[in-house]
Amino acid sequence: MDNNLLAELLYPNVKTLPADIEARYPKRELPEGAKVTRFAPSPTGFLHIGNLYGAFTDERLAHTSGGVFYLRIEDTDAKRTVPNGISIIIETLKKFGVNFDEGAVIDGDNGAYGPYRQSERAEIYQTFAKQLIREGKAYPCFCTEAELEAIRNKQEAEKLTPGYYGEFAVWRDASLEQIQEKLNENASFVLRFRSEGNINNKLKFNDQIKGDIDVTENDVDHVILKSDGIPTYHFAHAVDDHLMGTTHVIRDESWLSTLPFHIQLFKALGFKMPKYCHTAQVLKLDNGNKRKISKRKDPEAALTYYHSQGYPVEAVREYLMTLLNSNFEEWRIANPNADIEEFKFTTKKMSVSGSLFDLDKLNDISKNVISRMTAEEVYEYTLSWAEENDAEFADILKSDKDYAVRILSIGRGGKKPRKDIALWSKVKNYVSFFYDNLFQRVDTIPENFDKSDVSAVLSAFKESYDENAEQNDWFANIKEIANNNGFCPDMKLYKQDPAAFKGSVADVSMFLRVAVTGRMNSPDLYEVMQILGKDRVLARVTKEI
Ligand code: GLU
Repeated sequence: MDNNLLAELLYPNVKTLPADIEARYPKRELPEGAKVTRFAPSPTGFLHIGNLYGAFTDERLAHTSGGVFYLRIEDTDAKRTVPNGISIIIETLKKFGVNFDEGAVIDGDNGAYGPYRQSERAEIYQTFAKQLIREGKAYPCFCTEAELEAIRNKQEAEKLTPGYYGEFAVWRDASLEQIQEKLNENASFVLRFRSEGNINNKLKFNDQIKGDIDVTENDVDHVILKSDGIPTYHFAHAVDDHLMGTTHVIRDESWLSTLPFHIQLFKALGFKMPKYCHTAQVLKLDNGNKRKISKRKDPEAALTYYHSQGYPVEAVREYLMTLLNSNFEEWRIANPNADIEEFKFTTKKMSVSGSLFDLDKLNDISKNVISRMTAEEVYEYTLSWAEENDAEFADILKSDKDYAVRILSIGRGGKKPRKDIALWSKVKNYVSFFYDNLFQRVDTIPENFDKSDVSAVLSAFKESYDENAEQNDWFANIKEIANNNGFCPDMKLYKQDPAAFKGSVADVSMFLRVAVTGRMNSPDLYEVMQILGKDRVLARVTKEI
């Protein structure tokens, strides 16, 4: 077989040579140990929480080593590409604090190692593919869909491993005449890699996360260029990561199964392999069983979920870090106020078997993060969330900023700040009773109290409420009201003989709380009343009476 002739017959229009391309991609000048990583999504418009998990790993490895983190768009599958897919990726990751040094930008490229969209790199892939043909390492396959299906059916019936290998690789040893004949008929073909692997051979491979693993050689002649001359993921991966100088490939562990093929490709192309970090999948507990978080079943699989629910970006970052590095939480406890970037991220502390995603834990982290913010910050974040998601609430917040900030100040600062807000979307409910047009009576005073007793207590409060009283005097007044109405003012005394009273001062406070806030639970009632102002307080008490 004259491989040079075959190469010309198959790709007559490809004139460039690998050396021409190599010359366009000089070696990167970087400090010793600098890592070059890339985030390489398909622009499908959907970003999975697993993508962020990977992107954080890429970003941290590059930026803690003085390296480069770039964005490559894997848009070889036109069917999966959406028009604004790239801006969705860039904007969404930016929201989560992930910024690229180089790569695809919304309207083009930023960097010297592009083009960063695979759809613009056809000539590059074809150049290397043509070289493989010249070297006898790739060949055309003219099988039709029906023929491939017949092969699959036969393999299934005989319980054989599926794939294009051995006796099933029907075009592997075709003659130039057979190929020429098909080309004359204008038959379409794919280009396949000629595998020299044997599944009886195992090799050791060192993965940066999984450590030493055994992999089985690949014997399948996989497709490297599709019939339209566009590469498969595998081929594009080898060519791009080589040319773009990637030192560390961080990708989901589902790619491990095709790693043996990638090892062959790098070797056949004469490229040095990058290091690989195969990340464990993000799992969740479902009825006690662990399973992959699914785009179809779990709303929390989508990154947009965290934004629309109003999780602070810092909380999501913080939480993902606890999933990514097993020593992060310990570090956080020792360094509560340190910048997250100061943490020494390492692949050595990454989970090998799967990271269990737990929304409750994220909520707890989120509450902690928000509890450390000032009221002003909480106001700004809530407002910007509301402006995108709840225009009515945004208007309310803007109508009196000082009032809103005072509400959000309750229990803030100090050693033990309140931790009751986890999401911006929950702030509305949290503050609703401060606004007459949002106020609703959620709880009622329990039936076991005599209505006339409740009314008597509330009326007494109404008569005596002094907005200017200090908290101690205000409470002394409530105790007095309790005492005058048969409710024990002293809890200790009450516990000794509850039957002797209609109730206690705690019950009196509860009547007031329900009357004023419409709820059994609220922040400190004195502060609440101070913020609401006398008119509102008395109007609500009157209503309850
Ligand atoms: N486009 C591939 C994906 O989205 C990239 C995998 C990789 O990072 O190599 O899964």
